Amino acid sequence: MSKMLSNITEKTRFLLDELFAFISTPRCPGCGILLDNPRLPLCPACELKLSFAGDGPVCLICRSPRGVSCNCQENRISVIPHLYYWATYSPVMRELIHQFKFEGQLKLGKYLTLAALEIIADRIASQKYDFIIPVPMLKRDKRKRSFNQTELIADTISERLDIAVNYSILKKVKKTRLQANLGREERWDNIQNAFEVSAEFNLDGSSCLLADDIVTTGATCWEATKALYTGGVSKVTVFTLVSSHFDEAS
Ligand SMILES: [Zn+2]
Ligand SMILES: [Zn+2]
Repeated sequence: MSKMLSNITEKTRFLLDELFAFISTPRCPGCGILLDNPRLPLCPACELKLSFAGDGPVCLICRSPRGVSCNCQENRISVIPHLYYWATYSPVMRELIHQFKFEGQLKLGKYLTLAALEIIADRIASQKYDFIIPVPMLKRDKRKRSFNQTELIADTISERLDIAVNYSILKKVKKTRLQANLGREERWDNIQNAFEVSAEFNLDGSSCLLADDIVTTGATCWEATKALYTGGVSKVTVFTLVSSHFDEAS
């Protein structure tokens, strides 16, 4: 009996030691190798894979260059926002976004946003925004995750471009399922009327930059934009780290 207990204790200790070694040794969130320089969030090989060109302005929904009128615009009454994005949905990007969003790697999120701004800050800074608005989560979802990744993105843009973030104008008012688990049409239904604008703000004629981490169908940002238009905002532009196509993200 005592032998069995000591075996269990030993195994537990071994597992705890393994766990401690794992959490105390920073690994690259892109490929899992040990980081030579623990102050950098990525290994040099993964960092090299992040040399994106960025793009925008493109149509939020179909990603055609703006200026070319696409069918999306013809089918919708309100103006579809311009989208600016940094990266496409490569395997390393998929892993990094996952680590940032679902594993709480906030340092990585900030690093990715700064890398994105290196490429696209000049394009978006040439326009004037009254504020940056992070795509909101329901309060209870944010409590569960303990942070909202779009707020961290908005804060980082704010520091870099000196534009105020407003966390209160736009609210999520509907419980929705995780978009990533849904089909293309289901995503539009799921997110419909999910956002509202707080009545306490006078937004008439204002212009805002909506911040998101990943845009796929464009449904979430489009619903957020509709709510902002209803509240009086006259121009919305979208900033996202990653633009993915539906087939890649599902
Ligand atoms: Zn790596
Ligand atoms: Zn379009």
